[in-house]
Amino acid sequence: MPRSELGSSYPGYRALMLALFGRSGRPPAWRARAACRDEDPAVFDDPDRTDDALAVCAGCPVVEECRTDQLAWERQSGVRRFHPSGVVGGLTGTERHRIHYPPKKKEVA
Ligand code: SF4
Repeated sequence: MPRSELGSSYPGYRALMLALFGRSGRPPAWRARAACRDEDPAVFDDPDRTDDALAVCAGCPVVEECRTDQLAWERQSGVRRFHPSGVVGGLTGTERHRIHYPPKKKEVA
């Protein structure tokens, strides 16, 4: 969420930024090139608009950086234990869940 929406007086802002972006508390530079920077964030959380969100990600020049950061954050924060939701980095929550917890291969007799 852009800082302008939270407001500088929001007391949890710093803690939120640290949780999301690590020690610097600053979004990574690649975010300035994100295809979703001017999109309504609700599109990425609305299960009825998953295809719209995936279409935005498909044309995003920083999809690899986004995906890598998101998967790392979900691993480090423990969020992956809960089924992730929303589209991020060109992946649905279910697709990210499968990356964190790949299905076990059945042994072939
Ligand atoms: S890959 Fe998708 S969610 Fe990530 S920055 Fe690009 S448009 Fe946004």
